[in-house]
Amino acid sequence: MPSPRVTVQQAWDDLAQGNERFMAGQLLHPQQNAARRSELRGSQAPNAAFLGCSDSRVAAEILFDCGLGDLFVVRNIGQIANDNTTATMEYAVAELGVAVIVVLAHGSCGAVKAAIDQTTATPGEVTPAIKAELRQIQPAVQQEWFATQQVSPYVDAEHIDVDAVGRRHLDATINALMRRSRVISDAVARGELGIVGCQYQLEEGRVSPISWVGQVDVTR
Ligand SMILES: [Zn+2]
Repeated sequence: MPSPRVTVQQAWDDLAQGNERFMAGQLLHPQQNAARRSELRGSQAPNAAFLGCSDSRVAAEILFDCGLGDLFVVRNIGQIANDNTTATMEYAVAELGVAVIVVLAHGSCGAVKAAIDQTTATPGEVTPAIKAELRQIQPAVQQEWFATQQVSPYVDAEHIDVDAVGRRHLDATINALMRRSRVISDAVARGELGIVGCQYQLEEGRVSPISWVGQVDVTR
């Protein structure tokens, strides 16, 4: 198993600086030229992996002003940690030596809204495949509902905070990655890996850390 090439802190700081450039409109578009393509011909050595929402507005390389070979990314609706995405993150740690995994949620997430709808007394029609995925987000919906309202077992979509549900689901996703993968939790325990759960604010462009594990200070 390769050791990470950078510290957890360095990997996170590089991302945070890229997001600062994105917010400020001062993009460098690094590592996107022919020289970089040539450098990457035979191998890749990204320092960060992403489990993000598939939402078309949440493209990791753009939000963090990164280029080719920088980020190892898997995305699905509502950034759900299932067998596939956990294995993808595990590969990034065990085979590529990434120092940080970013779980990337965002405000106004359609998957979270749909999971809320599925938890109401009159859920809308969705396909069986989508229903199965949304079921992974519904525990966060119920936790938020029972933490703030205790009037009905069914959620009233008008009276639940979508982004608060998203933050609970983010915590659950980080926990699920560590519970599902001994490779991942051992790397965190050794101090070689950090996991940072972030919520992206669509309008402002800011990627805000919400919860994290490992030897990383995301507040500086
Ligand atoms: Zn989403």
